[in-house]
This record gives sequence, C-alpha cells and structure tokens, in this order.
Amino acid sequence: NGSLVCVGPGMILGAHMTERCKNHIQQADVVFTSCHPVIEKWLATLNPCTHSLQHLYADNKDRRNTYRQMQDTLLKEVRNKKKVVGVFYGHPGVFAQVPHRAIQQAIDEGYQAWMEPGISADACLYADMGIDPGAYGCQQFEASQFMFYQRQLDPSAYVILWQLGHAGDLSLTPRLTGAPERQVLVDMLFKYYAPSHQVAIYESPFLPTQQPRIIWQRLDGLPEADISLISTLVIPPGRRLIPNDEIVTRLKSIYPPSH
Ligand code: SAM
Repeated sequence: NGSLVCVGPGMILGAHMTERCKNHIQQADVVFTSCHPVIEKWLATLNPCTHSLQHLYADNKDRRNTYRQMQDTLLKEVRNKKKVVGVFYGHPGVFAQVPHRAIQQAIDEGYQAWMEPGISADACLYADMGIDPGAYGCQQFEASQFMFYQRQLDPSAYVILWQLGHAGDLSLTPRLTGAPERQVLVDMLFKYYAPSHQVAIYESPFLPTQQPRIIWQRLDGLPEADISLISTLVIPPGRRLIPNDEIVTRLKSIYPPSH
C-alpha cells in the first residue's frame, strides 16, 4: 500500500537530520525534495531514487500552481503504491504548505501519511541570536500575509516576519520584492515602533563551515537593506509588558495570601 511521510533535514547540511528522518529517506521507494541544491545532492547519496521538485518553480508562475503540482507529484506516486518521502528543508511543517496539504490529501484518500519534525529556521535563530521566545512571547507572521490582512501585532512580544524577500508581492510569483514594498511594511510597523527601533535580518547558514548572518539596523533603514529569499526579520519588543491588575486582583481573591 502507498504511504507518504514528509520529513525535514534541518537547515545545516549533514548536521541537523534526525535518525528517523534519515531512515525514512533510506527506506523510501521514491524521495521528492525541495531543499538547497547542496542538500539535494547529499540526499541523492542516501537514496538514489531522489527527485528535486525545484524545477516546478518558475519566474512569473503563481507559487500556488507550483505548490499544487508538487502536491500532485507526491500523491501520484502514493497512488502507485509507493513508499513516498517528501523532504522539505528545515521543518517540513513550518511555513510550508505542500507537506501539510499532501498529507491531508493522502489521509483523505485512505493512505497512511504523517510528518516528522525537523530543525526550522526559527529554531536556529533562537540559538544563534540568544532569544527565548518564551521570555516575552513571540508572534510570527508571513510578511505578506501581515500586510494583506488586518492583524493585531503585540509590540511587547518578539515579532518574527518570514519571507521578507517576498514582502508585499501581490503576484505571488517567486520574485524578490524591493524597497518600495518594504517601505509599505515599515510604514505599517511605525504604528508600533520608533523609526530608530533596532531590528535584525537573520540568515542561518546551509553549510557547517558558514556562520549565521545577523544584521542589526534601524527599522527605518529596512527598505534599503540587503534582503534575500532566505532573510527572516526579527523585531525585539518595543514596549514594556503592562501588568493586568484586574486579573491579578481576581486571582488573589481565589487564593488569599497567607499572612
Ligand atoms: N520550512 C522552512 C523552515 O523550517 O525554516 C521555512 C520555509 S519558508 C517557505 C521560507 C522562509 O523561511 C524564508 O523566506 C525565510 O523567512 C525563512 N528561511 C529560509 N531559510 C532561511 C535561512 N537560511 N535563514 C533564515 N531564515 C530562513
């Protein structure tokens, strides 16, 4: 019977992959990948029947069509009764639609399908930047979704914006957007932060020999910043936590302090 497992090799080549992930790849009938080219080459050494899905991306092509075709490719082999493994860089379920959708579709069609976690870009970010998302809370948004919809941002928490390189791209193609779109994003953020607020662009390395790229700068300098398709924006808290006196008073009345 066909099955589908979506796994993530983490961010750094050869360094982040769990034993379970590796076993699934080695035992698969067919492996499909959407990862850094260097990682894809390495995956092919683990299982010779490895095929990249990257050719489905194209300039001026709606990313939703690409995702649909990736999903169809995975499902076709599941229906052919193959043990299919999808390898998506980082964590396969973090800011990645195809694995979630393909797994749901396979389950709907009566096949066994599940996900194995991997080390995501934000997991690396917490380690490399010394940030604990629990210290003040941490909100995460896809940058364009934050722009296209009415969202409530909490400036007393950390905020992480993903896909900064596509921020404000209405065409939904793989193209990088530029300073004018990022200016719109920054103008939205001025509602919550001072122009001088320090933010960071974070890029985790793909090779064990590389160092993370962490560029601290003023929020108002973001439009002109050097942004790539792997840039993630980190905004530290810009406001103090405000105590909720009403709730604390109510809680005190439940367990009055012993004297
Ligand atoms: N599944 C991936 C993960 O677990 O991290 C995320 C994939 S998502 C489609 C792509 C976005 O992830 C990028 O736009 C960027 O925000 C972030 N990202 C990808 N590679 C990164 C890297 N090397 N360093 C920092 N962020 C990265």
